[in-house]
Amino acid sequence: MPTIKLAPDGTITLPAELRESLALKPGDELSLEVVDGTLRISPTSRPQSPKKPTDKKTAAAEKAAGRQTAARPDVPSAKGTGTCGASPLPAPGTGAAGAPAPSLRRPELQTSMRFIKGVGPKLAEALSKKGITTVEDALYVLPNRYEDRRQLKEIARLRPGGTEAFFATVVSAGPQVSKGGRNYFEVVVRDATGSLILKWFHYHPAFMKKNWATGRSGIFIGEISQFGLQREMHHPEVEWAGEGEDLAQVMARDPENFGRILPVYPLTEGVSQKVMRRIMRDVVQHYSRFLTATLAEDVLTRHHLLSLPVALREAHAPDPDSLVEELNAGRGEAHRSLAFDEFFFLQLGLALKKRGVAVEDGISFNVTHRYTKELLKLLPFSLTNAQRRVLSEIKEDMMAPHPMHRLVQGDVGCGKTLVALMAALICVENDYQVAIMAPTELLAEQHFLNIHGYCEKLGISVALLTASVKGKNDTLEKIATGATQIVVGTHAVIQEKVEFKKLGLGIIDEQHRFGVVQRSLLKRKGVNPDILVMTATPIPRTLSMTVFGDLSLSVIDELPPGRTPIETRVVREKRRGEVYATIREEIGKGRQAYVIYPLVEETEKSDLKAAVQMAEHLAQEIFPEFKVAVLHGRMSSAEKEAVMIAFKAQETDILVSTTVIEVGIDVPNATVMVIEHAERFGLSQLHQLRGRVGRGSARSRCILIAGDRLSEDGARRLDVMVQSNDGFVIAEADLSIRGPGDFLGTRQAGLPDLKVADVLRDGGVLELARREAFAVVERDPELTSTESQRLRSELIVRWGGRLELAGIA
Ligand code: ADP
Ligand code: MG
Repeated sequence: MPTIKLAPDGTITLPAELRESLALKPGDELSLEVVDGTLRISPTSRPQSPKKPTDKKTAAAEKAAGRQTAARPDVPSAKGTGTCGASPLPAPGTGAAGAPAPSLRRPELQTSMRFIKGVGPKLAEALSKKGITTVEDALYVLPNRYEDRRQLKEIARLRPGGTEAFFATVVSAGPQVSKGGRNYFEVVVRDATGSLILKWFHYHPAFMKKNWATGRSGIFIGEISQFGLQREMHHPEVEWAGEGEDLAQVMARDPENFGRILPVYPLTEGVSQKVMRRIMRDVVQHYSRFLTATLAEDVLTRHHLLSLPVALREAHAPDPDSLVEELNAGRGEAHRSLAFDEFFFLQLGLALKKRGVAVEDGISFNVTHRYTKELLKLLPFSLTNAQRRVLSEIKEDMMAPHPMHRLVQGDVGCGKTLVALMAALICVENDYQVAIMAPTELLAEQHFLNIHGYCEKLGISVALLTASVKGKNDTLEKIATGATQIVVGTHAVIQEKVEFKKLGLGIIDEQHRFGVVQRSLLKRKGVNPDILVMTATPIPRTLSMTVFGDLSLSVIDELPPGRTPIETRVVREKRRGEVYATIREEIGKGRQAYVIYPLVEETEKSDLKAAVQMAEHLAQEIFPEFKVAVLHGRMSSAEKEAVMIAFKAQETDILVSTTVIEVGIDVPNATVMVIEHAERFGLSQLHQLRGRVGRGSARSRCILIAGDRLSEDGARRLDVMVQSNDGFVIAEADLSIRGPGDFLGTRQAGLPDLKVADVLRDGGVLELARREAFAVVERDPELTSTESQRLRSELIVRWGGRLELAGIA
């Protein structure tokens, strides 16, 4: 994440990197908004997000749809007849009956929360902080767990942790003083099975005395805490029993809170659980009926699912016969149904995209082997079987008359770059240009350096295009005239001013940093060029089905021969000396080492050691006999390049770097990877970093230095690294520890947010939803039947402007 400074006059300059990733050009308008204390800057020209309120939404959706009709008169009417950019998603209104598709969004759902009984301006504001402004927002705020208040437990069965409610009688009450001198009020209550202590640390003495009389009974609600053998409840809520009233009578008095399974909502400051329940009850009661069931009856029946309105109602107010454990595990019928619903529309969009690509006219390349054969001769090794297999899958796609849309997945060091280069050569053989896009300048430069040598020998011209490349106009000119055959670069490649003469193949490396949108932008640089995406992050299947659900998959599941597994160990800060000894030993054998730091500069309060300072320390005090170089993100490209070339040429022994070297750096002579503050990195990131060594046949080592106060959780995470060299195992572990949100970032990928579904927990449901969605597109690729028209309108609402950005609409 780049940081920027506020200039004295209050202005800021957006770093080029950010402008590029948003594909912004000078003169674009940006809108600013503060959300939860974070400044959000977004292009105003973008289609409206679907979360925004009012009938404007419906209007926007319809407008967007109308635009499609106007802009795409060339909607393919049958397979294979589409022209460039043809969409498999016809505009609503072109359906079988010719009637416009009915809008499924009822305006009632856009009712402001202010109109809900008991919600005043203050409460409305508190709710809006949590993103709840309309009743529709509220309907999707699901309980994060449920409390069983069908029957109250006896005291003996109360457990610490969650909220409990029980019925008992006061046996004693009075003020007390703790050993520490603190005043509190204590009440002992009892039922047939035992007793429990209630405590108040803030109380009104006279009021307490009057209310808490011996012999009174009531229901007490609160959290149980356990101190040794003693269980206590602090500041409980109470529902007193009247004279002669028994438990059943007290419960019957408040049917909203007793005798049922209660939802427990995620709370926001200023809203109590009780208030939240009351509001939600009102919203569900009056508004859930305006939700429309869009999924086909037979799909629901087949998978034992509830329709959307029923599922939402159930989720908020579960049937009294439900199993609470099941509800809390997210395995209840309602939850499954809602997850299915979300996944279905996600997958429907992806299915359309995939289908759209499949029916588009693409380039049918000839495989002449003119350059590829030459390259194989130049290589000091032969391809692995896995590389060969994937290459033949790519060739088949490239020869086919439809555009390739393929993801190549393979662990670090498996040799994806070479496969990409081979594909690029096939494209060049056919007189088309190739664009290779990498997420960072350094990686782009690395690719450029790697490819450059080979291409020179083959007589192919390659150019580097990043934000900091000099003489850019000249480069752009050569790309436009076709003089440059392969362009390697960053986001700069998809900027508006870049024009290709004849782009035939777009390659995206380290795809998880890019999304569906960038993929589409790259595609638009040519006339339905082939797209090849490469990722070294082994993506768990559930995630690849969502983020890459529109791509065909090839896996390189084999490392080049002769690699020795990397030995990994965790070393505590205080035994740093051992680490230095290892580095010294390896360099003594003619090898090189990396030392990685999480940051570039020491931030004021943090104890992070800056790479720059550490490089100096290592160079002067620890390894005066070796050459130490430093590499970080704030250096210019030319500086970075010089450092990398020197390291590759073995002119330096130790490279101290920030995570900029995370991907793609290839120096087989480096055999030691030391990672400082390892606990601060994600596991996949550590795996990527570790993959920078072990690239030759020599034994390589990875040392993770962890702070002395490493948490138990942190230790467990690092242990995954020690135990496994398998990217898949690590990615799964990372995913389950960190959650999918920041693992790949679905939002960044340009997909609709998932509000209810969780790709990990609901993986099985995802699979079913995917199958059904793909089947719909298979049966009715243009979504023209009456049945699919409903799906289509809903799809437009769910995906919002993203449909267009993702190149689906
Ligand atoms: P990654 O898949 O991580 O991008 P690279 O393409 O950078 O991997 O390849 C890692 C290293 O393996 C490079 O030094 C590359 O030259 C080498 N390499 C690639 N394919 C083979 C092969 N078939 N046999 C031996 N070495 C190979
Ligand atoms: Mg690579």
